[in-house]
Amino acid sequence: MRERPSFPARLDTAPDAQPRFKSQPAAALMPVPQGVGMDSMAVRQRMVQKLAGQGVSDPLVLSAMGTVERHRFVDSALVNQAYEDTSLPIGLGQTISKPGVVSRMIELLRNGAQGRMGRVLEIGTGCGYQAAVLSCVANEVYSIERLKGLHDKARDNLRPLRLPNLHLLFGDGMIGYAQGAPYAGIISAAGGESLPQAWVDQLALGGRLVAPVVHAGGQALLVVDKTATGVQQSILEQVNFVPLKSGVA
Ligand code: SAH
Repeated sequence: MRERPSFPARLDTAPDAQPRFKSQPAAALMPVPQGVGMDSMAVRQRMVQKLAGQGVSDPLVLSAMGTVERHRFVDSALVNQAYEDTSLPIGLGQTISKPGVVSRMIELLRNGAQGRMGRVLEIGTGCGYQAAVLSCVANEVYSIERLKGLHDKARDNLRPLRLPNLHLLFGDGMIGYAQGAPYAGIISAAGGESLPQAWVDQLALGGRLVAPVVHAGGQALLVVDKTATGVQQSILEQVNFVPLKSGVA
């Protein structure tokens, strides 16, 4: 597992952070001392307040965003930006999505569910951050990544969190993951030209799919509801995701 510098000492450089460890400059190189979790928790709570201010209201989503330590999923040089509403590079030309987009999409995916939702498939594990958030709001999560380097990175990032309901898969998510179907929710972190039929097939009746798709010269969020009377699609706001690609690498 990669070594990471302790989080709050770096975070002190953020303009709105409280000064901490003023008398312990070596803290950046030390193992995380006791009580530090509370510091990053305070920064996450500020992020959660901002998300709520942007309109996210699902209590389980807000609590998951306040629980998962996003700073553990980004490179050490970017740690002080971990709780800003910005996407960040995670290697191999890919990015971790903004917290605002992660929470918005998961709220849409849950579609007002009370308590945890059922089984979820995520396409595009990336660094594993969104998968960890999903594991707090769903009973079972399957997350698939086509780049071996990122699949391995996510495994390393997630190992210490011990999330028994999260299953990481290496493969082409365009064909979904039939073994886990049917899914109450399918969420994609990569935007395709069109919606893969396999995803619609693997969605449960009453299930919902949320994915970026190419739309009107850009990209927009697509929501698909599978109902007894057919499939309903709606196009929502414009987004900016990395492309959905086929095959593995
Ligand atoms: N949810 C991720 C976001 C990663 S960016 C996070 O929290 O970090 C989107 C990811 O989708 C990239 O890692 C990219 O490699 C992956 N991806 C693109 N096409 C894919 C496909 N067909 N199957 C699986 N993963 C795919």
